[in-house]
Amino acid sequence: MKQIRTEVLVCGGGCAGLVAAVAAARNNASTLVVERAGFAGGIITAVGLPFFDGIADKRTGRIVVRGIPLELLVKLGRAKPNQTHIHPHNPTIDSTERFKLLADQLLTDHGEMLRVLFHTMVCEVEVQGGRIQAVIVANKDGLVRIVPQVVIDTTGDADVAHWAGVPTEQLRPAMPMTLHFRIGHVRRHPQLVAQARRVLQEAHQQGLLPMFYGPGLIFCFAHDEAYIHAVRVPGDATDAFDLTRAEIQGRADACTMFRLWKEKVPGFENSYFITSGPYIGIRETRRVVGQYVLTAEDILQRRRFDDAVVTGCWYLDRHPNRTTLGTANDPSAPWVQPRPYDIPYRTLITSQVSNLLVAGRCHSATAEAASSTRVTVTAMGMGQAAGTAAALAVRKGTQPAELSGLMVREVLESQGAGPFTDP
Ligand SMILES: Cc1cc2nc3c(=O)[nH]c(=O)nc-3n(C[C@H](O)[C@H](O)[C@H](O)COP(=O)(O)OP(=O)(O)OC[C@H]3O[C@@H](n4cnc5c(N)ncnc54)[C@H](O)[C@@H]3O)c2cc1C
Repeated sequence: MKQIRTEVLVCGGGCAGLVAAVAAARNNASTLVVERAGFAGGIITAVGLPFFDGIADKRTGRIVVRGIPLELLVKLGRAKPNQTHIHPHNPTIDSTERFKLLADQLLTDHGEMLRVLFHTMVCEVEVQGGRIQAVIVANKDGLVRIVPQVVIDTTGDADVAHWAGVPTEQLRPAMPMTLHFRIGHVRRHPQLVAQARRVLQEAHQQGLLPMFYGPGLIFCFAHDEAYIHAVRVPGDATDAFDLTRAEIQGRADACTMFRLWKEKVPGFENSYFITSGPYIGIRETRRVVGQYVLTAEDILQRRRFDDAVVTGCWYLDRHPNRTTLGTANDPSAPWVQPRPYDIPYRTLITSQVSNLLVAGRCHSATAEAASSTRVTVTAMGMGQAAGTAAALAVRKGTQPAELSGLMVREVLESQGAGPFTDP
């Protein structure tokens, strides 16, 4: 079997993984990132999501995550380097294709310090004496054995941690999955969304659509291009057959919506289906049970942690497994909006495997807490903390699980990242 050695291995090049890989390489660790898709960016490029949520306090617009995520926004022309406030839900990415290119550029900017393998799926982990010895991946070279000093699990599903024997939690049923799609050449008018909703409601009543929400029908990429989040498919994305079923159901539902709107809603008569996905979006699967499990109480009471490495600020954002009209969340439950809160380093490390870090939506948090920490920029901030900690551990000849979270925080702060602290 082919073998590759690296100091840091990042598994999954999504929101958290892209930033983790860049942070590790910038901190002088030779880094390899493996990603199952042919591009990095995760939800942004693999599902087509244009939002940078978690960047700013929803109540004040105060930017609470700086570092590499803010640098990305600056490179996209959506923020300035020293900006302090921004619309919390509206620094959108104007082109997800452009984000792919930006991710490519970031990943190829560091020469041999940062290598990338796209079209590469992590599929097995070798553990010995509480350490990951090797990660087995599958790609066009066949099975490849990667021997790292430190591993960062940014698969979203905690695949590496789970296969390494780390305890995980998983709610069943999990939040539903959503396939995003885009329709071109739509004529906008004030009744468009309400009419589109009515058609979906009728289709649901007639049994043509098993479930839907919203519809979130937004024009953020072009004046006549509708970007839609309305598909809602319950399922378990850690079960290969169920994930396949969900992808097929999501595609069928998106096509049903398009067909009915084209037939029945004025404004859609000349429209055409541009694209979906490419992957169905997965909101919730496994979360590791790490050295600390962040709770909703910690978040709502703004519990301070000495080893805080990033700040979260999104609301507790759970999607129900049923049809909801006009909204994605449960209309009968009020939004719970925390003030900016600390996410400790100990939610990124485990007690069972010393050379493993976990960042992004599978970090250690209860389901309720993770409904806030899972958003794009918060995941990226965790990625920067994990990448920095991984490089620090390599440099100091220690393991991430034994590294002081306070030291990780200090290094992040010296690099313009880390948690936001009220003046
Ligand atoms: C439908 C939907 C809508 C959302 N809406 C919003 C929103 O409006 N605003 C917001 O901020 N957040 C939103 N989120 C939440 C948020 O975007 C995600 O939780 C966020 O992407 C988490 O980042 P991550 O890095 O953990 O996961 P991801 O960005 O999903 O990255 C995981 C990466 O790992 C790769 N991967 C997985 N398994 C393997 C493997 N075994 N081997 C190799 N690679 C692997 C994947 O291909 C992917 O690139 C939404 C999520 C979904 C699903």
